[in-house]
Parts: sequence; structure tokens; C-alpha cells
Amino acid sequence: MEWQGSRRLFLKRGIVFGLTFAGVGALIQGCGQSPAGGDAQKENKAASAADPCSDYTGLTEDDIKARQHLGYVEVSPVSDRQCSNCNLWLPPPAGNPCGKCQLFKGPVEPGGHCTYWAPLAQQAG
Ligand code: SF4
Repeated sequence: MEWQGSRRLFLKRGIVFGLTFAGVGALIQGCGQSPAGGDAQKENKAASAADPCSDYTGLTEDDIKARQHLGYVEVSPVSDRQCSNCNLWLPPPAGNPCGKCQLFKGPVEPGGHCTYWAPLAQQAG
């Protein structure tokens, strides 16, 4: 009888110890991780503070692929061909350093460039 009592106690303590160990492990693991995309969001926030024209918050993966497909770069390799003197450029509103492009979504550097750069159309007059 005494043996059954100690066996029952042993199993009880084993279950309690196992559950405690699993709970502590899950807690430690949970503390070390952020929600999906957490690191990317932190990096994006840091980028947006330093350079708001690199803030792609709100853009979908397809939007970003469209930018890449057109060969958009933030610094033009051709000094006299920049977004700010492109016919597809949409100038920034007052107080915002970033413009936009008619071909894709998101902020655009005035000094940027892509393979679709087009000279400003001559004004009729
Ligand atoms: S078409 Fe290209 S060069 Fe022109 S504004 Fe858009 S991203 Fe800039």
C-alpha cells in the first residue's frame, strides 16, 4: 500500500514539474520574440525617421516589386536625369521632402531615378 502511495506521489510531482517546466520554457521563448514582422517594422521605423522617402509602410509586396521592376533607385546614377526633372514626377506637398511617381505607389526621392525616366514635356505657349 505504501508503495502505491509513493508511486502516486511520484507521478503527481512529475506531472506538476513537467507542466511547470513547459510553462517556463514557453514564457522564455515568448519574451524573446516579437510579432511577425516586428524586426522589419523596427528597421522600417528607423529608416523612416532617418529618411522618410525610404518609408514603405503601407505598401504591399506587389507595390515594392513594381518599384524594383522599374529599376527605381534613390540616388540617380545620371546627374541630369533625376525624378525631380522627370515628366512622370509628382512633386511633394509643402513640408514633405518626398514626391511621388505616376508609375508606382509610395514615396520617391527627388534625386531618384528609374529606367522610365522621361524628359519634362515642353509647355505649350
Ligand atoms: S518615372 Fe522613374 S525617373 Fe520618373 S519620377 Fe518615376 S521613378 Fe522617377
